[in-house]
Amino acid sequence: MTDILRIAVQKSGRLSDDSLKLIKECGIRFDNGAGKLRAPAANFPAEILFLRDDDIPGYVEDGVAHLGIVGENVAVETGRAVETVHRLGFSKCRLSIGIPRGEPYESIKDLDGKSIATSYPRILGKYLQENGVDAQIHEISGSVEIAPSIGLAEAVCDIVSSGSTLLSNGLQEVETIFRSEAVMIASRNLTPAQQSLLDQLLFRINSVQAAKNHKYILLNCPTGSVEEVSRYLPGMRSPTVMPLASEGWCSVHSVINENDFWENIEKIRLAGAEGILVIPIEKMIL
Ligand code: ATP
Ligand code: MG
Repeated sequence: MTDILRIAVQKSGRLSDDSLKLIKECGIRFDNGAGKLRAPAANFPAEILFLRDDDIPGYVEDGVAHLGIVGENVAVETGRAVETVHRLGFSKCRLSIGIPRGEPYESIKDLDGKSIATSYPRILGKYLQENGVDAQIHEISGSVEIAPSIGLAEAVCDIVSSGSTLLSNGLQEVETIFRSEAVMIASRNLTPAQQSLLDQLLFRINSVQAAKNHKYILLNCPTGSVEEVSRYLPGMRSPTVMPLASEGWCSVHSVINENDFWENIEKIRLAGAEGILVIPIEKMIL
């Protein structure tokens, strides 16, 4: 029984869909019927637990779950003794301070002596301390944005992604104190067998993430341009170059990083490439 990985994910919320998608993309199959609190995996020694996100770091610290997927904001705020083993790149958001719109603001020092409502007293407290600000932290568990308008606090510190919730509550964002994304956390007391299962899972996650960041590219170019085109398409080792049936033309196949894509595609076109096809990659083993 100890040689399975119990993976805790958020039951229902902003992390749920992407967490389950990632586990499925890693080839792990399970039945997540509505209302289920646990689901055994069909083809990997794992079991998925469906929990509230705030509870996940505690379960992982206690070893009830061996792994968990949570927002880094929650992992840090709960202060539990767990390892962050991988950054997952989804559910990106920031923890920001907002004050009533129109109020003057120059620096964090303006919050000296003020009261700030937040669900993140630990992260906020650390930030205020590091910046030598003496403000009163008012901990509330939700609907933080209404605190200034009902006279509960003079400022707020809460999760922001677009800033529209702050705006619609008459607040302006004045300070970002923490940037977050989903992370995988692990218990510090894994057995060697569980550690080996975790390594297998991380290998799969890396392959899924690498594939998402790359595209497969095919193009035709005059044989005389192959060298220049290849310079922009180094691929995993080198591009594949094959002659076309038309004399003097080649087909070049390679892998291109999503970040360099638009910049390089222009240069490749200028070098004489045509008929460029770009195809998603499902898995990429580095
Ligand atoms: P639970 O019922 O499980 O306690 P919750 O209401 O506390 O859920 P959610 O609102 O589902 O939590 O948010 C989960 C995590 O998603 C947050 O801790 C944060 O890391 C991230 N997150 C929150 N808001 C956003 C957003 N607007 N955009 C992207 N990610 C977000
Ligand atoms: Mg929560």
